[in-house]
Amino acid sequence: MGNIKQQSHPEHDILIAGGGISGLALAYGLVAKGCKVTVLDAPTPTNKASRTNVGLLWCQSKFQHLPNYAKWGFHSCRLFPELTKELEEISGLEIPVNYTGGLIACLGENEYESRRNYLVKLRETLGDYPGGMISRSELEGKLPKIDFGPEVVGAAWCEDDGMIEPLTLMHAYKLAFCKLGGNLVETLIHDITPKDGGYSVFTDKGRMDCGRLVLAAGLANRRFCQFAIPKLPVSADKGQVLLVERMPPVMPIPLLGVTQTFGGTIIIGFRHEFIGHDTRIVPEDVAIEGRLAMRIWPELSKKRLIRAWSGLRVMPNDQQAIYSRLPEHPKVTLINTHSAVTLAAAHTRHLPDFVLGGELPEMARGMTLERFGYAC
Ligand SMILES: Cc1cc2nc3c(=O)[nH]c(=O)nc-3n(C[C@H](O)[C@H](O)[C@H](O)COP(=O)(O)OP(=O)(O)OC[C@H]3O[C@@H](n4cnc5c(N)ncnc54)[C@H](O)[C@@H]3O)c2cc1C
Repeated sequence: MGNIKQQSHPEHDILIAGGGISGLALAYGLVAKGCKVTVLDAPTPTNKASRTNVGLLWCQSKFQHLPNYAKWGFHSCRLFPELTKELEEISGLEIPVNYTGGLIACLGENEYESRRNYLVKLRETLGDYPGGMISRSELEGKLPKIDFGPEVVGAAWCEDDGMIEPLTLMHAYKLAFCKLGGNLVETLIHDITPKDGGYSVFTDKGRMDCGRLVLAAGLANRRFCQFAIPKLPVSADKGQVLLVERMPPVMPIPLLGVTQTFGGTIIIGFRHEFIGHDTRIVPEDVAIEGRLAMRIWPELSKKRLIRAWSGLRVMPNDQQAIYSRLPEHPKVTLINTHSAVTLAAAHTRHLPDFVLGGELPEMARGMTLERFGYAC
């Protein structure tokens, strides 16, 4: 930190550390309320989940054990149509998005049965569920251009799922944020410390001081919150993704794990690995993913693989989002969630009030750090 200089205008009403999808969704929500906001961001190899994800807006198959979190996901998906329209109007960008529902193909009767049991419990938990199990012929009716492998017996279907182009969503958030007066600074943050009732953020571009701080730096939050929490309960969950050559549009409805992007390529990714910050692509793992995809859709075996990449999901240790003030630091808000694309609309609409000192909405009240034993 030797070459960090004092800024001449150091006051920032709200400073957001991290301009991935979480930081931007919140930043836009705050400027839309008239707040003065600065976002600091510089991509780092371990903090690029927002740039490596699939863009699914996905509610099914999640959180049957956490009813409010499941409801939160559905709530967010329902907020997307209005939000994307607003972002398009302000940013001038067209955001590729579909609200067609989503499918999970089941390989064999056992998989079908366990998925069915899961949905029965999820429906009981939610009291209502917009979807259910469908047969192979119903699946073929929804995706008539896909020749499914012989092991596919049917699928789980949810009406509220969909897909968005995640990089365009981020871009639209950035443009809309700046158009409404937000300040976006590309700079690496080295350290954050409390100072005189506010906070000093030490960056490549000097020191920046603020009264309110949001920690939205993904896995780097663990380092930045150490002035209040020595060990944030968040881990890296590695995903390895394969990209298959472009095809004409064949998949109007996204299929979990094997999805056609808006550009026509096919994105494959099923894995979750908790092996620290290892971002290497492992050919054996990639081969396992490819084989699984080909069991669902054998035609992929004739297509060319054009790219593979990995990304580290930001996974709270109990898999539920963390939206929390820090113990003894009521003006610092921390956000860490592993489905931050799906949840972006809820973050934009509901988290700004919390950052400004208000309550979380009912559905999200259990998502603070209190559940890990912290007073906040
Ligand atoms: C393979 C894969 C597939 C996924 N698919 C989906 C999906 O289909 N749907 C879905 O909802 N979610 C999906 N996710 C999860 C989703 O991508 C994450 O929940 C989301 O990216 C988390 O966003 P974030 O902004 O909280 O964190 P990050 O994406 O990690 O962003 C943190 C930001 O902080 C910045 N930052 C970090 N350290 C510093 C520093 N020192 N200085 C300055 N800036 C810093 C980084 O530049 C980055 O922009 C997927 C993730 C992966 C890896």
